[in-house]
Amino acid sequence: MKARYIILTIVILFVVYMVGYFFFMPSIYLDDSNNNVINYKGEYKNPKYFAFYHGKDVSSRVKINGHVNTNKLGVYKVEYSIKKGFFKKKVVRRIKVRDLTKPVITFSDGEGGKLQLCPNQKYDIKNYKVYDNYDKDLTNKVKVTKKNNVVTYAVVDSSGNYTIKKRYLIQNDKEKPIIKLNSSDIVFSFLNDEFKDPGYEVSDNCDIDLNKKVKIKGTVDTNKTGIYPLTYEVADSSGNVSTVTRKVNIVKKLNNGTIYLTFDDGPRMGTTNIILDILKEEGIKATFFVTNRGPDELIVREYQEGHSVGLHTATHDYSIVYSGIDSYFQDLYTVHDRVLNLTGYDSRIIRFPGGSSNTISKKYKIGIMSELVDEVLKRDFKYYDWSINSGDTAGLTDSQDIYKQVISKLSHDKINVILMHDIKTYTRDALRSIIKYGKENGYNFEAITDELEPLTQKVFN
Ligand code: ZN
Repeated sequence: MKARYIILTIVILFVVYMVGYFFFMPSIYLDDSNNNVINYKGEYKNPKYFAFYHGKDVSSRVKINGHVNTNKLGVYKVEYSIKKGFFKKKVVRRIKVRDLTKPVITFSDGEGGKLQLCPNQKYDIKNYKVYDNYDKDLTNKVKVTKKNNVVTYAVVDSSGNYTIKKRYLIQNDKEKPIIKLNSSDIVFSFLNDEFKDPGYEVSDNCDIDLNKKVKIKGTVDTNKTGIYPLTYEVADSSGNVSTVTRKVNIVKKLNNGTIYLTFDDGPRMGTTNIILDILKEEGIKATFFVTNRGPDELIVREYQEGHSVGLHTATHDYSIVYSGIDSYFQDLYTVHDRVLNLTGYDSRIIRFPGGSSNTISKKYKIGIMSELVDEVLKRDFKYYDWSINSGDTAGLTDSQDIYKQVISKLSHDKINVILMHDIKTYTRDALRSIIKYGKENGYNFEAITDELEPLTQKVFN
C-alpha cells in the first residue's frame, strides 16, 4: 500500500510541476535569421531576442552571458536567461566567427579584364599580388593557367573562399600614329627665299622612330606667291596610316617706305566716290575693306579702277560677328559674295572690325579673336591690321588734324599701313594733302593684295 502512495505522490508532484511549468515558465525566442555567422573582424551586434511571460513582453529582464571575439575564428556560446519565481528559463545561442572574405588579386597594370597589347608586346604573366584578410599574402598560392589568349588566375584561402580572375589579351594595334607639326599647320615664307620645312614629330602607341618613315607629298614653288599644301603621311608597322596637311603661304614682303592706304567701313556715296576720283587723278592704288553698306556701283568702281577690294564683314556689328566662329563666317561670306557677284573677284583679304587686337569682342565671346585669327588662315584668308591709325574714328574730326596725324607717323624705315575710313568727310578731305606729302617725300603707294604677308597686331582676346 505504501509504495502505491509514494508512486502516486511522485506522479502528482510531477503533474503539478508540469502544470506549473506550462503556466509559470517564461519563454525566450531567438531571432536566428542571420544564421548566427559573423565575418572575421566584423562587428558583433547582439541578434534580436524576445521573452514573454503570460503573454507579456519581459525581454528587458533577460540576462545575457557570453562574449564573442570576432578577431578569432571559432564558435562562441551566448546564454540568454530569465528567472520567474521558482522557474528559470535558459537558451543558448551559438555564434560562429568565420572568414567569409575572398582573397583579392591585383595586377600592377590595372584592373582591366581586357588587355590591349601591341602586336609584339610581351605580357608579364606574373604581374599580380594577392592579399587576404585572414591569410595575408597569398601571392604564392595562385594557380595561373594560360589558354590561347586567356590567362586565368585562381586562389583559395584557408577558409575555402576563392577568387578567379580572367584576363583577355588582345594583341593588335588599331591606333593611328600622331603627327605633330612643328611651328604651325599654316606657315609663311617669303617669295624667292629658301623654304625650310619646320619639321614634325611622330608618336605612336606601339612603334618608335616613325619620324624617318614620314612621306611628304606636295611641292612648294618659292618663286611664285600662293598657298601650297604639303601632306605628311606615315604608317605604323600594323598599317595604320595618318596624314596631316600644312599650308605653306609664299608671300611678298610688305615694303618699308611704301604707303598702303586702306579704307574701312564703306562704301558710301558722297565720300567713297570722291576718294576714288582723287586716287584716279593721283594715279594711286589703295585698299578698301568693304561692308554691306553703300551702293553696289562703288564696289564695282573700286575693283575696275584697280584697287584692292578686301572684306570687313557685312554688318560690322560686333555683337553679331564676334558672337562665334560660325556667325563671323556667315557674316563674312555675305560680304565676300557681294564682292564676288559684283566683280567676279574672290577676295581673300580681310580686316577685322576693330582690328585683331580689339578687346570689345570680349563682351560677346571670350577668346573669339584668338580663334578667328587661326580660322581665317585655315580658310585661306589673310588678315591685315594697320601700323598707322589716322585717328578718324579715334576722336579726330578735322581734315587738317588727320593729315598731321598721318604724316607725323610716316617712316621710310617702317611699314606704313594707314587705317582710314572712306565714310568720313574729313578723311576724304585730308586725302589729297596726305598723297601730296607722300609723293613729295619719296614714298610710293601700293594696294594690299593676298600676295602680301599679313600685317598682324597682338591679339588680346
Ligand atoms: Zn571698321
